[in-house]
Amino acid sequence: MGRRLSGVWWFRGDPIYRRIYRVLRVGRRLPSARSITVLDYDEGKEAAERRRAAGFAVPSKGEVWFDDEPPSYLVFAHELIHLARKARDDVGEEMYANALQRLVVTLAARGIVPRRSPLSLLEDVTPGQLLEALSAAFGRRFRSFNDFYVSVHGFEPAFLLDRDLRPVSRVGREAMKLLIMYLSDESEFNMKVLRALLSLLS
Ligand SMILES: [Zn+2]
Repeated sequence: MGRRLSGVWWFRGDPIYRRIYRVLRVGRRLPSARSITVLDYDEGKEAAERRRAAGFAVPSKGEVWFDDEPPSYLVFAHELIHLARKARDDVGEEMYANALQRLVVTLAARGIVPRRSPLSLLEDVTPGQLLEALSAAFGRRFRSFNDFYVSVHGFEPAFLLDRDLRPVSRVGREAMKLLIMYLSDESEFNMKVLRALLSLLS
């Protein structure tokens, strides 16, 4: 049978869950909380064992299931991202969820609802725009993402190096996805990174 998300006790009782929902609802990406179903434990247990997952989502039916209730904020955000409407199908479901879950929870914890959906970071932000946003937030001009990583972190991630360990000449779609994922993870404790990502969502 399942329960409506809007009526589930932990969703009603803890504002962070509702803020996570609100952040992901931006741009009408999510259905109303009344039409999202939280499956009961027994309804999802078998499917979850097959997938070895702490939760799962069935986007076509608007259903989510959690191994543990209340779920952790990250797991909740992850499964709701699976329910959200995507503008591109070349990003990959798990990439959307894994890359953005931390940013969504960080925004919710800080009570921020951006004007544009966080999902758009993986959909229409160009490498040039991202680099520009990082430069503005850090108050210095980064020549490349390699320059950003060396200046700020003192190392270059492997996906920004070619086979001869030289900086890649062009940042393609795959590297952009990873950049968004790393920056989303970092946004939890790095205000400048958070500001850069937020400027792309304003
Ligand atoms: Zn997933």
